[in-house]
Amino acid sequence: MNALLSVSDKTGIVEFAQALHALGIKLLSTGGTAKLLADKGLPVTEVAEVTQFPEMLDGRVKTLHPKVHGGLLARRELPEHMAALKEHGIDTIDLLVVNLYPFESTVAKAGCTLADAIENIDIGGPAMVRSAAKNWKDVGVLTDASQYPAVLAELQAAGKLSDKLRFALSVAAFNRIAQYDGAISDYLSSVTFEEEKLSETYVPARAQFAGQSNGIFTKVQDLRYGENAHQQAALYRDLHPAPGSLVTGEQLQGKELSYNNIADADAAWECVKSFEAPACVIVKHANPCGVAVGLDALDSYGKAFQTDPTSAFGGIIAFNRAVDGKAAQQISKQFVEVLMAPDFTAEALEVFKAKANVRLLKIALPAHGGTTDWQRGRNAMDAKRIGSGLLLQTADNHELSLTDLKVVTQKQPTLEEMEDLLFAWKVAKYVKSNAIVFCKGGMTMGVGAGQMSRLDSARIASIKASHANLSLQGTVVASDAFFPFRDGLDVVVDAGATCVIQPGGSMRDNEVIDAANERGVAMVFSGVRHFRH
Ligand code: 5GP
Repeated sequence: MNALLSVSDKTGIVEFAQALHALGIKLLSTGGTAKLLADKGLPVTEVAEVTQFPEMLDGRVKTLHPKVHGGLLARRELPEHMAALKEHGIDTIDLLVVNLYPFESTVAKAGCTLADAIENIDIGGPAMVRSAAKNWKDVGVLTDASQYPAVLAELQAAGKLSDKLRFALSVAAFNRIAQYDGAISDYLSSVTFEEEKLSETYVPARAQFAGQSNGIFTKVQDLRYGENAHQQAALYRDLHPAPGSLVTGEQLQGKELSYNNIADADAAWECVKSFEAPACVIVKHANPCGVAVGLDALDSYGKAFQTDPTSAFGGIIAFNRAVDGKAAQQISKQFVEVLMAPDFTAEALEVFKAKANVRLLKIALPAHGGTTDWQRGRNAMDAKRIGSGLLLQTADNHELSLTDLKVVTQKQPTLEEMEDLLFAWKVAKYVKSNAIVFCKGGMTMGVGAGQMSRLDSARIASIKASHANLSLQGTVVASDAFFPFRDGLDVVVDAGATCVIQPGGSMRDNEVIDAANERGVAMVFSGVRHFRH
C-alpha cells in the first residue's frame, strides 16, 4: 500500500507516518513534509523523484502530475485502468493525507495583503483531495489531523480501510474543499480592484463588504450544549467580524459562555450600542427587562434595575461606558450571568474577583464616525433558519430622528416627552413583538414583550410596573407596530401614559387618533415598524 503525505499543518504527522511505516505502508511526500519525516528517520520518497519533475514555481507546482493523479484516480477493479497505469509506470496511491495552505488564518490576520492571500491559495492540495475523494472506493483521503486515530485503528485491525470509513472521509474531504473555496470566494469578492495597488494593499473596503458577504463563517468554539442540554452547539463568527460586535470581545473572567448566554449577551450588546448617552441594558431570555440612560454606568444601572428587579435576577447586563468601582459594587449585589462593557476599571475588576463565576466581557465599541453598517458594528444581513430553508433579510438598522416624527393629535408632546419617545422607540426595537414599552426620564417603566396580542403586551407592561412599585402616570409609551383598534391605546392610557409613539398605517388610524384626542393624550407616528420575532 502507498500513502502520499503532503501537509501544511504538520501536527501529529510524524507519529501518524511512523505508524503507517510500521504497518509496511510506503511513504511518498512533498518537500517540507518529506524533509520532516526523513529527519525523524523515516524512509520517504519525494514526489519529485516519482514524477521525475522538480517542485517548481515556489511550490505552486509540486504534485500536479499524471503520476500522482493517475495513481489516485485509477479504478482498481477496471483492467483497462490498471493496464494504463502499468503502461505509463504509475503506482497506485491508496492513502492520501493532505491539509491545505492556511488560507483562512492568513486572511484573518490584520494587515494581510492581497499578495499574501493569493500565495496561500492551495492548488495542488485540493486537486489531489478531489481526485482521492472522487475515487473513495479505492482511496482513503485524510484532510485533518483529527482523522488520524480512526484511520490507524482500522488499518491496524484489518490491514485496510472499510468502505464505510472511506466514504465518510470522502464526504469530509469535499466538505473541507467547499469550505476552503468558500473562504477564497468570500475574501476575493470583498476586495475592491485598485489597479495600481493591487499587489500590496490590504483593501479596507473588503471589510466594509464582509458583513454582507456570502455568509462565510469560521468556528470560534464548540459550546457545551445548545439552547437545551440535549442539543449540540457551536459558535461561529463572520470571517471578518464588524468592529464592536460581540464576537470581537474578550472574556476577562468567569465560566465559559453558554449558548443562551451568547444569544442574550448579543441582544443586550446590540441594544446598548445604539445609545450615545451612558446606557445600561439588562436582558433576560432575549428581551430587555430594564433599559436606562443616565449620568454614568452607576446611574444608568440603578435606573435600569428599578424597571423590573425580579426579572433582573440572573440577568445579562451591558454598558456602553466603562464600569467603575462604584458601579461594580452596586452590580455585585445582584446575581449576574454576564456583564459587558467597553472597559472595566482596576477597582471594578477587583470587586468582581470575589465573584469568580460572573462572566466579564470587554468589547470595544465601534469607532465614531463610521458611515457603513459594518463600520458602525452592525450586521448588514439577518438570517433565520426554517425547516429545510433559510430566511434572509437586510438587518433592521433603521434609526429614527426627531424630524421623522409626525404628531397626529391636537395635543403636542413636550420636548421632554419627545426625548422619551425616541428613547422608548429605540428600546421597543429590541423587544420581541408584540412590544409595548413604557418610559419616563430616560428609563423603561414597564416592558411588555413577546405576546401574541398587543393588548396583552400592554397589560403585562403595566402589571410589571406595579410589581416594581413604579407609577406609569405621565409616561410615554412605544408600540412596535400600529394599534389595529382603539382598545390597545385605551389600555396604555388607562395605565397612565400621556404620550404614544407607534408606526401608524392601520386601516383604523382615524379611530385610534380620535381616541387619543378624546382621551387628551399626544400621539406621534414614526412611519416605520419594528417587528422582532
Ligand atoms: P510541503 O510542506 O510538504 O512542502 O507542502 C505541503 C503543502 O503543499 C500542502 O498544504 C499541500 O496541500 C500543498 N501542495 C501539494 N501539492 C501542491 C501543488 O502542486 N501546488 C500547490 N500550490 N500546493 C501543493
